[in-house]
Amino acid sequence: MFLTGFFIGVILLAACDASNGSAIVINGQTMGTTYHISLSNNPANHDVAVIKQGIEKRLTVVNQSFSTYIDSSEVSTFNQYTGNEGQIKSAAFIQVLAEAQGISLLTEGAYDITVGPLVNLWGFGPDFSEDDIPPVDNISQALKKVGYKNIIVDRKTRNVKKLIPDVYIDFSSIAKGYGVDEIAAYLESQGFNDYMVEIGGEMRLRGNNPEGTQWRIAVEKPDPAKRSIQRIIKLSNTAIATSGDYRNFFIKNGIRFSHTIDPTTGSPVRHNLASVTVLAPSSMTADAWATAFMVLGPKKGYDLAMKNNLSVLFIVKEKEGYIELMTPQFQQFFKDEAA
Ligand code: ADP
Ligand code: MG
Repeated sequence: MFLTGFFIGVILLAACDASNGSAIVINGQTMGTTYHISLSNNPANHDVAVIKQGIEKRLTVVNQSFSTYIDSSEVSTFNQYTGNEGQIKSAAFIQVLAEAQGISLLTEGAYDITVGPLVNLWGFGPDFSEDDIPPVDNISQALKKVGYKNIIVDRKTRNVKKLIPDVYIDFSSIAKGYGVDEIAAYLESQGFNDYMVEIGGEMRLRGNNPEGTQWRIAVEKPDPAKRSIQRIIKLSNTAIATSGDYRNFFIKNGIRFSHTIDPTTGSPVRHNLASVTVLAPSSMTADAWATAFMVLGPKKGYDLAMKNNLSVLFIVKEKEGYIELMTPQFQQFFKDEAA
């Protein structure tokens, strides 16, 4: 069920970038997936092994806040607690929670990190489960626990309160992005200004690639059968995230069930949006919006992207194949290309 390595994505076209000798590549595993970092240069002559240790340390801290796979994490202790007292959480926890709540407001609850009970029920959570459609009663039971308005956050005092005991947070749609931002901040603190950081397909770029030009990023075709390229974009100083229904899903009675849950129905989304790619200053924001658009679908999603001036590419499945829908902010990356 947990498709490690089969993340959706944006891919660094790094084969040539990394082979000219000046690139430093650091790879590893975190959050049930892989991470890849490419540094174009090493201005302060750091020992790369020490930098990797620094990165892993940051990731350990991130997981200790956001992983539902760790029983003692901040999110797990929040989820386990069934009382009505407030809990004081770390600044990081509050920052990510507040970002998620903000996007819930803007999407009128389509994006909602309290979908955890439904994610688990449909078999996309931390516990292994058979690929199956849950009974209707179980879905309505789980739905009662869902609703971002059941969490009250006080940013000043870092106090978080549950309004109902069973509210359960799932940060999966935003934690990888936050992890990318944390690594980026660490790298900058060590003097690196030209980098690509990626965790499970969530990516952030700064400066130039080792050849001294913008990073070249491939957006995948939303094809479950194979990996191929839809678009190549030259980017720097931005984060980019892609969500889609073509990697993490199960098939039952000929129907594909996606890991994106519609909090209004309690079931996986059913529309013809195959993938969505979002550019934003932070990876956390790009990551969360990408999932939000997967819930909203192409029509509502496009309207909301326009309303919020977001840079978004929607790839929509039609009878004849895939069609692209870009906001003007996204389109500008292709203004020099022939139509
Ligand atoms: P993707 O690459 O498709 O965005 P992510 O792991 O970033 O994958 O986000 C998908 C995850 O978000 C799901 O596995 C689930 O845990 C969670 N999720 C599903 N539906 C929602 C929703 N409506 N709002 C917030 N998070 C959701
Ligand atoms: Mg995401």
